[in-house]
Amino acid sequence: MSIPFIDLQAQRKRIESEINTAIQSVVESGRYVLGPEVTELEKQLADWCGASHSVSCANGTDALALALMAWELEPGDAVFCPSFTFVATAQVVPWLGAAPVFVDILPDTYNMDPAHLRKQIEAVKAEGKLSPKVVIAVDLFGQPANYPELKAICDEFGLKLIADTAQGYGCTLNGKHPSDWADIATTSFFPAKPLGCYGDGGAIITNDAKLAERIESLRVYGKVTPTDAAERNFHH
Ligand SMILES: *Cc1c(COP(=O)(O)O)cnc(C)c1O
Repeated sequence: MSIPFIDLQAQRKRIESEINTAIQSVVESGRYVLGPEVTELEKQLADWCGASHSVSCANGTDALALALMAWELEPGDAVFCPSFTFVATAQVVPWLGAAPVFVDILPDTYNMDPAHLRKQIEAVKAEGKLSPKVVIAVDLFGQPANYPELKAICDEFGLKLIADTAQGYGCTLNGKHPSDWADIATTSFFPAKPLGCYGDGGAIITNDAKLAERIESLRVYGKVTPTDAAERNFHH
């Protein structure tokens, strides 16, 4: 008997009629992009993490890229990534001209080693070619990274922290969600991920209202945000 590694049909069969009804209602509504169902999903994603904001997007890779775009990363900036993760975690960094710097993983969790992160930050600073800006921690196999230690290091060096939780959305550490420590948590709804969809999808989760607003703008070609409109700032 062969057992599929990932059996997407088992879940589909269990909730088949609910799914069919929901898809049919979207088809009939004519609201195919960022409709009311997406707004409801964003609310539920944030609520689940006890966070204030969620912004959905095309996939987990774009979620990471949007975070880096919101912080205006540029050539000469360093982003620290674990050396063991799906390629997307590091791939987005050169999209903005910045440089990924790889950090070793721990032998028991396969997640980023805080002690080696500190070493790599110090090495980059000593070399003086790149400026440390962002750390992307990854929650592999549903297991959160060591956020208390990673966050303390980020605070010490003035770095932003992303929790790439594409393989661990919903995970907690000491009763807290990755978004409680990270400036932004990102996730993917690729079908085989812990929270998969029927196609591609992704989202960011944050407790920073300004950052959520900025990412919502970047998601739609840099549209004017409510803050921009209030301040009559159309610079971007
Ligand atoms: C899958 C994955 C991504 C990218 O998500 P996509 O939706 O496939 O773009 C990013 N990071 C990790 C850790 C992933 O597993």
